[in-house]
Amino acid sequence: MDAILSLMQQSLPTFLISVFIFSLLVGSFLNVVIYRLPIMMERAWKAEYQSYFHSDDLNEATTVPPFNLVKPDSTCPHCQHKIRAWENIPLISYLFLGGKCANCKASISIRYPLVELFTALVATFSAWHFGATSQGVWAIFIVFVLIALLFIDLDKMLLPDQLTLPLVWLGLLLSTQSVFVSPVDAIIGAAVGYMSLWCVYWAFKLLTGKEGMGYGDFKLLAALGAFTGWQGLPIIILLSSVVGACVGIVLMISQRKGQSVAIPFGPYLAVAGYLTLLYKTPITNMYLAWVFGS
Ligand SMILES: [Zn+2]
Repeated sequence: MDAILSLMQQSLPTFLISVFIFSLLVGSFLNVVIYRLPIMMERAWKAEYQSYFHSDDLNEATTVPPFNLVKPDSTCPHCQHKIRAWENIPLISYLFLGGKCANCKASISIRYPLVELFTALVATFSAWHFGATSQGVWAIFIVFVLIALLFIDLDKMLLPDQLTLPLVWLGLLLSTQSVFVSPVDAIIGAAVGYMSLWCVYWAFKLLTGKEGMGYGDFKLLAALGAFTGWQGLPIIILLSSVVGACVGIVLMISQRKGQSVAIPFGPYLAVAGYLTLLYKTPITNMYLAWVFGS
């Protein structure tokens, strides 16, 4: 990897264009993850439930066709037309097909190309910020996972362990090479990140009898704490709460659903964690200057 990085360091435009194109392709794959992972989890839960409580009729369930991130092939939800390779080029196919299925002309959700473009833009911005360094490469990878988490949480109010836990371990492992922070800062960041939301959760539950967030949020903040160190946690919590509260109030007023409207917290954590990863030092300095009025 070092050889590729030193090659990329010689030309920033080449590096950024490579990242942009690669991230468009990854964005296309993220669309699959965002759509299929929750369904795969639901099926796994049902199968587990079956095997616990109805193990007698297990034989019937063994003939289910495979459903994972690779199989079956993508099809049009309207006509089951199999998506061919040329219809699956990120952004370009959507524009070329005019946002319609090549077979039945049913419209394709604008969200697919938008997720691809969003992934590519955020990844390229991260690449530009960190440059062709190991920080840059890992920041791009973290962006991919965070975008998958963000949209799954928006869709299903769910942050899958399959994505949050590997992110925690990655954060701790990267700290052994001091990629973003030192091992001590990362370990404390992960543990305190988890525990702080755990405390908020139980305090909220004991006081109101309601569940304000889920365990996935604790694991996501643990991961973000491992990347930014414990010093990043106050910034992440502050940023996500402020933005979350603003969006929540707007939603409550616009939809008139009252206080009981459920809003996933994961997207705010993901965005705040990303900003903190990039701008922890300037944000901290700005805050200190404001508090101590220097
Ligand atoms: Zn179709």
